[in-house]
Amino acid sequence: MTDAKPRAVVLFSGGLDSTTILAIAKARGFSCFALSFDYGQRHGAELSAGRAIAKLMGVAGHRILRIGLDDLGGSALTDTTRAVPEPPGEGIPETYVPARNTVFLAYALAYAEVLGARDIFIGVNAVDYSGYPDCRPEFISAFEHMANLATKSAVQDHVRYRVHTPLIRLTKAEIIQCGKRLGVRYSITVSCYNADESGRACGHCDACYYRAKGFCEAAITDPTRYQPGV
Ligand code: ZN
Repeated sequence: MTDAKPRAVVLFSGGLDSTTILAIAKARGFSCFALSFDYGQRHGAELSAGRAIAKLMGVAGHRILRIGLDDLGGSALTDTTRAVPEPPGEGIPETYVPARNTVFLAYALAYAEVLGARDIFIGVNAVDYSGYPDCRPEFISAFEHMANLATKSAVQDHVRYRVHTPLIRLTKAEIIQCGKRLGVRYSITVSCYNADESGRACGHCDACYYRAKGFCEAAITDPTRYQPGV
């Protein structure tokens, strides 16, 4: 490895949480390799925003992988015949994508092994989106344990992989405050599940609700670009 800084893989969507994670990983001294997925999500504007943000934040690399989670279906995020729910909801939301974080982390682990990185960052949060089972601390620690059994680097070279989840116990307001301190430009991040092609938010979906609530509770002016009439 020729980098002066240790390398990290950052799971990065172009949304509020993962952009904050990227800023945190950079602040902790990592050379960041962002990893995004085109999985047929209805909010494709998020990926366009992600390209711009990754460039702006000076990542060492940014890969966007096409994976066919939409071919399997089972989620309001990939199946346009299912409605995106409006909050507040009960139980595991319709926007849950079957095994998404398991799949994403598996790719991140493979990328880390290729890069010679030991650190993976993921913006899971167990507070505001508490309905997702693959955002819980016990899932992350189980994955980390598996990563250290499953790879050639761990078995042969005694590499210890770490999955970092600095947002896991933070409220949305605390995440926003943290990002603000690190200079994150939230105006160009896209969270909305129904964003239009230019990334303007619908103002009604789950993601819009939690994002707006977060800015309000953080006492920071919401810089989100909304669609006309919202
Ligand atoms: Zn929305």
